[in-house]
Amino acid sequence: MPLSHGRPYLSIPGPSVMPDRVLRAMHRAAPNIYEGELIEMTAGIVSDLRRVALSSSHVAIYISNGHGAWEAAIANMFSRGDKALVLITGRFGHGWAEHAQAMGVTVESIDFGLHSPADPARLEAALRADTKHEIKAVLVSQVDTATSVRNDIVALRAAIDAAGHPALLAVDSIASLGCDAFRMDDWGVDVMVASSQKGLMVPPGLAFVWFSDKALAASKTADLRTPYWDWTPRAFPEMFYLHFAGTAPTHHLFGLSESLKMILDEEGLSEVWARHHHLASAVWAAFDEWGKAGDISLNIADPAHRAHSVTAVKIGDGGAGRLRKWCEDVAGVTLGIGLGMVPFDSPRYGDYLRVAHMGHVNAHMTMGVLGVMEAGMQALGIPHGAGGVAAAARVLALPNPK
Ligand SMILES: *Cc1c(COP(=O)(O)O)cnc(C)c1O
Repeated sequence: MPLSHGRPYLSIPGPSVMPDRVLRAMHRAAPNIYEGELIEMTAGIVSDLRRVALSSSHVAIYISNGHGAWEAAIANMFSRGDKALVLITGRFGHGWAEHAQAMGVTVESIDFGLHSPADPARLEAALRADTKHEIKAVLVSQVDTATSVRNDIVALRAAIDAAGHPALLAVDSIASLGCDAFRMDDWGVDVMVASSQKGLMVPPGLAFVWFSDKALAASKTADLRTPYWDWTPRAFPEMFYLHFAGTAPTHHLFGLSESLKMILDEEGLSEVWARHHHLASAVWAAFDEWGKAGDISLNIADPAHRAHSVTAVKIGDGGAGRLRKWCEDVAGVTLGIGLGMVPFDSPRYGDYLRVAHMGHVNAHMTMGVLGVMEAGMQALGIPHGAGGVAAAARVLALPNPK
């Protein structure tokens, strides 16, 4: 008999769990978009968006998903034929590169494969080889959600500086903002993109671009800009209507205002980061245990390079696909599909899945996912080491994970 009746749990890396408070904040009549509460609230949101990115930069808000945030950054950084260097550590790196190419940017890419972070030494060498400084910007994901690798943005910035290269550093933190530590000013990031439906716990529909003075200056001549994607009127609106190049995303803004309050004023940003690290460590401990007696492994071997928001794993012999189906059908838990590890039509497609632990997630939700997965492995006869859930519990019991 299915055991799935009850509150379902979506453990996929976006959309993440929406707090009831965020949904309630959105459940209201349409507001005036020309004067009143919305205008004041939006000013507060912009200031909170700076706080959540530890940034003193400019902020543009778009009505779009993360793919739109990619295009917004590209449109404002490049003219047709300009060169981008894209550091690829999974499917989302490929995606950003493909969007840039399709928009008319000349893309040079370095592919670091599916199990490793971007190597700063290779970035430095590529920039040193660019003696004419044709590369206008370096594009990289902080967390590539497909592989669950976490790139070291500080080390990549240092590599750009060591090469003495003027390229902008543009970072996709869509899967990491509000989960993994990110410090835009301290880390010397020029452009950062994020969206509403991951660590920020708001339904999909808002994208954000933070950009430095240096990036603003570069955008003045970027001929890929169009009226809708131009970040300047959005960041420096002459009237509220121009903030969003038209009608404001009213209800998303109410939700976002609430979620930023939860992150910044109630839990606290460093506590949010610590919670994600602790829960991620519990997930890793379970997989380490399960992997002792089965074809089960974490995609990223070194914990220092793992995302704190999502974990990509292999469960061989199609086990991942069968387990995902069991968890959803029988237990009410939806796990993420494997993405970009093998093609969708590969016979090995069913060997990969992802567990999300981003945003509005706590210890009991994480233990719930792990407990259901262990039950599913038993029900399906998937070989695994015993005691994954117990190992996760031991990690949760620590005051701080290692
Ligand atoms: C989810 C995600 C995207 C794409 O965002 P959408 O809202 O699905 O368009 C891009 N980059 C990363 C790292 C992501 O996690």
